Amino acid sequence: VPALDVEKIRKDFPLLQEKVYGQPLVYLDNAATTQKPQVVLDTLIEYYTRINSNVHRGVHHLSQEATNAYENSRKIIASFINARKSEEVIFTKGTTDGINLIAYAFGRGEIKPGDVVLTSAMEHHSNIVPWQMMCEDRGAELKIIPMDEKGELLMDEFSALLTDKVKIIAVTYVSNSLGTVNPIRDIIAQAHARNIPVLLDAAQAVQHMPVDVQELDVDFLVFSGHKIYGPTGTGVLYGKEEWLDRLPPYQGGGDMIKTVTFAKTIYNVLPYKFEAGTPDISGAIALGTAVQYVQQIGVENIQAWEEQLVEYAVQQLQQIEGIRFIGNPKHRSGAVSFLVYDIHPYDLGELLDKQGIAIRTGHHCAEPVMDFFCIPGTVRASFAVYTTFEDIDRLVAGIKKAVSMLR
Ligand code: PMP
Repeated sequence: VPALDVEKIRKDFPLLQEKVYGQPLVYLDNAATTQKPQVVLDTLIEYYTRINSNVHRGVHHLSQEATNAYENSRKIIASFINARKSEEVIFTKGTTDGINLIAYAFGRGEIKPGDVVLTSAMEHHSNIVPWQMMCEDRGAELKIIPMDEKGELLMDEFSALLTDKVKIIAVTYVSNSLGTVNPIRDIIAQAHARNIPVLLDAAQAVQHMPVDVQELDVDFLVFSGHKIYGPTGTGVLYGKEEWLDRLPPYQGGGDMIKTVTFAKTIYNVLPYKFEAGTPDISGAIALGTAVQYVQQIGVENIQAWEEQLVEYAVQQLQQIEGIRFIGNPKHRSGAVSFLVYDIHPYDLGELLDKQGIAIRTGHHCAEPVMDFFCIPGTVRASFAVYTTFEDIDRLVAGIKKAVSMLR
């Protein structure tokens, strides 16, 4: 029995009603970005139509309305991830922005030459490059938690990497290229036993499973609004208050200050200390709407639905002759990556596109993962709350047709 009414949900998403090359759209590129429900679009229009104004600045009515809506969204998000306080929720431009913020602030505040930063072999470039930049800047070293052929982290190797030199661990909750759900509770427990803070890249997690920052006891957690049915250009950084208070600011400017003189600037309190300049006000408010939309369906129900989809997809894809899954983790969420014979992923992607099926091909911003498997890229199908079993049937039929044309 399905835990949710997928046909009703699909009606909430105008773009899913569109046709591509005259055929109903099968949208299976949700790990790249999700479609937006009408309520999110309405929030954006409503903001600009009724309350457009700058936040935290004006005494006038509109500015107060905008500020209230913006701060209310922060509260919605804090409650969604169960933060202790809404001050621990910082609005960002997205996952990339949140990781850069922490890499910069943590590097400046906490990292000395010879220190070590740990990340993993399955990270998105956005959880590699900011740390590389920071390590280069501070004379520190970036070390990598390795994985195996299934796309699972080698936890013994992880334990062996935990020395006193390690100052922070930045790891993904769910891999965007393989779909692996990492054993983050174990990672956090081992890290905390040595007083090492952990940053979780939850870009592929919050839309697929319940995430409770207090239960996880995670120090920093980042995600993107656009992957959880919200607008592009929005995102969230959660940080424990004691960490955010301790770290220096990332960008300087308006709103992040208490007082400014040419001699010295006193920084503002949380969360403003990390929100320099006019934020994406409409986007942040609409992200709150997107999160409420997810809460109304129930993230547990979404998880249950998508688990069935993933299982069905693996089962059905397995029946395609010549298919090879890239990574086959035991705990998988949201995405399946594969190749068929020696067909280039791009060729397969093009022929699927002509049938109205949108999937992703390429390295998925995870070139080290592709290097590990010695492949140029994969075909990735990724799922969302509105994905149906028929979508998967059409994908499988589409691949069979494409393969017959290419071989
Ligand atoms: N990390 C992961 C695991 C991702 O899937 C993505 C987006 N593909 C990112 C980071 C980067 O997110 P954004 O481009 O929204 O900043």
